[in-house]
Amino acid sequence: MVVVGGGVVGLSAAVRLQETGRSVCVLTADPPERTTSHLATAIWFPTGFGDQDGVLGWARRAFEVFSALAEVPGSGVVMRDSLMLLRSPAKTPWWAEAVGGVERVGSEEVPPPYTGGYRFTVPLVEMPVHLPWLLERFVSSGGVVEERAVDSFREAAAGGWKRWNNFREAAAGGWKRWNNCERKRGGKTEHSPRSA
Ligand SMILES: Cc1cc2nc3c(=O)[nH]c(=O)nc-3n(C[C@H](O)[C@H](O)[C@H](O)COP(=O)(O)OP(=O)(O)OC[C@H]3O[C@@H](n4cnc5c(N)ncnc54)[C@H](O)[C@@H]3O)c2cc1C
Repeated sequence: MVVVGGGVVGLSAAVRLQETGRSVCVLTADPPERTTSHLATAIWFPTGFGDQDGVLGWARRAFEVFSALAEVPGSGVVMRDSLMLLRSPAKTPWWAEAVGGVERVGSEEVPPPYTGGYRFTVPLVEMPVHLPWLLERFVSSGGVVEERAVDSFREAAAGGWKRWNNFREAAAGGWKRWNNCERKRGGKTEHSPRSA
């Protein structure tokens, strides 16, 4: 099975798929430190317009998963007390249930021009820690990463399956770790046996 993308979405999906017993290869144009994911503040918050298309369910699930990861040493996830400041009174936020409820804050507790707010506790993900942790989890259970851009999912699927044996060879030859990408960053480019 091929996953395109080595940001937080791709690596998380790859880890989950690997855990179901599938053999997974991640194809990514960039190493983790050059993804948008690496730059993210990565605090849990469902930015958007309310519970459209089941966003609340995803938000709740993400909260559960990242809260659990906050208990795992080295995952880069921590729980953070948060204060949301408001300029005008508002109803309880639509996502409050996903975080186990919010505490209302009165005007006496916030500086002008704010008139109140909410307190709640949410997961915050230190991405420079979390992405390498995900990657290590993936490759240590047999996952393979190839740094390569693809033009279409069709190309990714066709190439990935055809070359699966070579991915295995590549992994056996030491290509399974992302340290080749680090060497690439250092100016020297290495390719898997497949692409050499
Ligand atoms: C400054 C900032 C702050 C943010 N803060 C938050 C926050 O607090 N909370 C929050 O939830 N979100 C936040 N975000 C948004 C969050 O970063 C993104 O939603 C998330 O990182 C997207 O992850 P991704 O894995 O989908 O994409 P990316 O991290 O962009 O990864 C995409 C991957 O796909 C690969 N790729 C792309 N094209 C190809 C191709 N043709 N072939 C092969 N590989 C390809 C790339 O190389 C990369 O590996 C923030 C974003 C920014 C920029």
